Amino acid sequence: MGQHGRRHRRGRFGVIFGATAALLLAGCAAAEQQAVPPSTSFTPASSAAASASPVTVPGLTTPSSESPTPSPTPESTTSSAEPAPEQTTEPVDAPDDDYTEPAPARPEPQEPAQTADPAPEQQPAATGGGRVVVIDPGHNGANAANPDTINALVDAGFGQTKPCNTTGTSTNAGYTEHQFNWGVATRLQSILQNRGFDVRMTRTSDDGVGPCVNKRAAFGNDANAAVVVSIHGDGDDAGAQGFYVMTSERPPAGAAMAARSDALASTIRDALVNAGLSPSNHLGSGGLWKRGDLAGLNLSTRPTVMIEMGNMRNSSDAALMSSSPGQQQMAQGLAEGVNAYIGAG
Ligand code: ZN
Repeated sequence: MGQHGRRHRRGRFGVIFGATAALLLAGCAAAEQQAVPPSTSFTPASSAAASASPVTVPGLTTPSSESPTPSPTPESTTSSAEPAPEQTTEPVDAPDDDYTEPAPARPEPQEPAQTADPAPEQQPAATGGGRVVVIDPGHNGANAANPDTINALVDAGFGQTKPCNTTGTSTNAGYTEHQFNWGVATRLQSILQNRGFDVRMTRTSDDGVGPCVNKRAAFGNDANAAVVVSIHGDGDDAGAQGFYVMTSERPPAGAAMAARSDALASTIRDALVNAGLSPSNHLGSGGLWKRGDLAGLNLSTRPTVMIEMGNMRNSSDAALMSSSPGQQQMAQGLAEGVNAYIGAG
């Protein structure tokens, strides 16, 4: 998101990082300004993911033999071909892999017993129960070409205003943040739909304009979302690396709702770590950070987090964020976090 990190440093961390603030500010501003390259080369994976499973499973107690969708994207680890960063964390997949079909009454022991069937008949754990998850992929593909629209000021909560939307940042190679956000969001959508969540996206393509940040917040509120996850990538100095999960430091819906957002944040943080991702070495603390200036958080009355999945100006993060396996790894971590939060609630 670029701008998110920049605003931040004027806050309480501005004092702490005072010495470096000017440097960072310059870097982020540059990133923000960069024109979006005309390429839209990213289409394949995201569009496939987006259309992979249009099915939602509102039912809680459907017979377990009828899998809603056989999950085109097995929730196993990411491709073994890629140099996936330390995929040593397999407990994430344990629930699905361990699922065993209910034995069919076993009339006679004449058939070869259905022992360890290696066939991938695993079913997604339908823990969603039709609960609404709003996914908010930051920015949008046509924002850069519509400055008048996205620069219009809108309500950002607590008396603040902000531009309707921004272009976001990009990697040094020109892979844009809106593409990245979309890639992770559609993968997350697919995983959660397979688990029985009612997933709704604040934008339904990657070539539109906006919506404005206040509209994105209202979207989650109007949907009475059980969870709102806003997905971004940061544009910081090259040494900054890792993700951080943000919540509002001025809760707009009271202490109880703020506590739910905090629980969501720490649960997702833990899940991302379990998925092999690293908390930021630069911003926040232990992968968590409270912000007072983000409309998406300030205006939300639901359990809401905004996540900078990594720093697109850091070479390691950029490589991961630009790759399909990397985006799948991130989506998987987010899904596990949402799942765990819902399960705990
Ligand atoms: Zn962003």
